[in-house]
Amino acid sequence: MKLDVDVLRYLSKDDFRVLTAVEMGMRNHEIVPSELIDRIACLKHGGTYKVLKNLLKHKLLHHDSSKYDGFRLTYLGYDFLAIKTMVNRGIFTGVGRQIGVGKESDIFEVVKEDGTVLAMKLHRLGRVSFRAVKSKRDYLRHRSSYSWLYLSRLAALKEFAFMKALEEHGFPVPNAVDCNRHCVIMSLVRGYPLVQVKQLPNPDVVFETIIGLVVRMAEHGLIHCDFNEFNIMIDDDEKITMIDFPQMVSVSHRNAKMYFDRDVECIFKFFRKRYNLSFEENEDESDDSEVDSDEVCRPRFSEIKKVSGFLDKKLAASGFTGKDQEDIERFIGENVQKDSDSDGEGTEDEGCIADSTNESNIKDFDSLCSLRKEEDNPPDREIEHEAVEDTCMVRDDKPEDDSSQAGCEHDSEADEQIENPELTKRLSKQRQRAIQAARGRKKSSTSRTTYSDKGGRSSYKSKIQKQMSSW
Ligand code: ADP
Ligand code: MG
Repeated sequence: MKLDVDVLRYLSKDDFRVLTAVEMGMRNHEIVPSELIDRIACLKHGGTYKVLKNLLKHKLLHHDSSKYDGFRLTYLGYDFLAIKTMVNRGIFTGVGRQIGVGKESDIFEVVKEDGTVLAMKLHRLGRVSFRAVKSKRDYLRHRSSYSWLYLSRLAALKEFAFMKALEEHGFPVPNAVDCNRHCVIMSLVRGYPLVQVKQLPNPDVVFETIIGLVVRMAEHGLIHCDFNEFNIMIDDDEKITMIDFPQMVSVSHRNAKMYFDRDVECIFKFFRKRYNLSFEENEDESDDSEVDSDEVCRPRFSEIKKVSGFLDKKLAASGFTGKDQEDIERFIGENVQKDSDSDGEGTEDEGCIADSTNESNIKDFDSLCSLRKEEDNPPDREIEHEAVEDTCMVRDDKPEDDSSQAGCEHDSEADEQIENPELTKRLSKQRQRAIQAARGRKKSSTSRTTYSDKGGRSSYKSKIQKQMSSW
């Protein structure tokens, strides 16, 4: 999927209003009924259906009529919501070229009004791993699209919180600028991922620095959990910057030692193979051998004086709950495990496509600049109030959290949708009720695509819906 920000130029206030309405609806619905979108967006004269058609054309929404007529956000639609919010906040004014493709993220250059170039990371959980491991994991069986968006948002929030915390404690990480939905804005690292660097003037010094970072993080109570040549950037002066933090765990995590040892092993292995560093290890030894001849320089988890609690405090401060942490750890942890099982040497090209030069090639977009004059998504705010009413109609068990638009907010109920069969059942009942509520409590007629709302717009709407069904 290509992020074509040019489309942003052509999106109107109403387009964003409807896009936001779908986002709101997705709190309770995997596929948001068209009628509910219309009700939340509150556009006049059947405007919603025209807009839906436009959003669908630009692939910002996905249309699904398998059970009933409805829509869900695509990652592209979610991207646009986040980008617009960032632009409105004055964080950047233009989006430039793509500089990286991670396992489950896309990284772009963005430019501020003063010309400073930053990096924008859009998390895309589920992009790769979903297909690969879908059949194996019960956890993923009940996944809805929103769950992926939700998990991506958690990943972004967690990454942002950790980057900030690490920066405050003097670790070499990008400067964490802002975060919204699944999008993190950070400073641009002027360097290359270590995996792209074939030769180093001082590999032993770089190795010491990197291992020193693993140890220092553990002393601060943290383990990176994906510390390898793909997530370590190095510049021409051999200055190191660590990136990619959504999978970090506390040293008090039940598998902390395993994660720590794995991070250390990744570095040892890479430096041994790539730069021929010798650690006086017996290559024939199996990994789980008790005897380890490089014990002089290999850090031992048990010997590190650790301060725990750091991570938990940081996460709590950023609005993370224990359940969020569980969700994301459960998902990302397994992915990291899987990825680290593959040999880094053989997967060089998969990690990133970042060019070795970071010279900027930024396009400015007038539409983006002009959007900035508006408040931070003002239509959304209106929508929030309306949506609260709507969602209250369909949720009789929980008060609605209306904070979905601001910053790195947490959507308290979305996580419930993940894997509880009872909830799934309840949500499907709620969905039925929502459809009824949206139709003014009228029972649906035989045809699902027949629009039975009042106001004499039925023929127009059913015409549009017919068109939509054929897409
Ligand atoms: P993932 O979590 O998907 O692995 P990463 O955060 O590791 O994503 O980023 C993927 C690639 O994007 C990196 O290998 C790097 O090339 C590039 N990248 C990420 N963040 C930055 C940044 N702040 N500055 C420059 N390049 C970056
Ligand atoms: Mg990475």
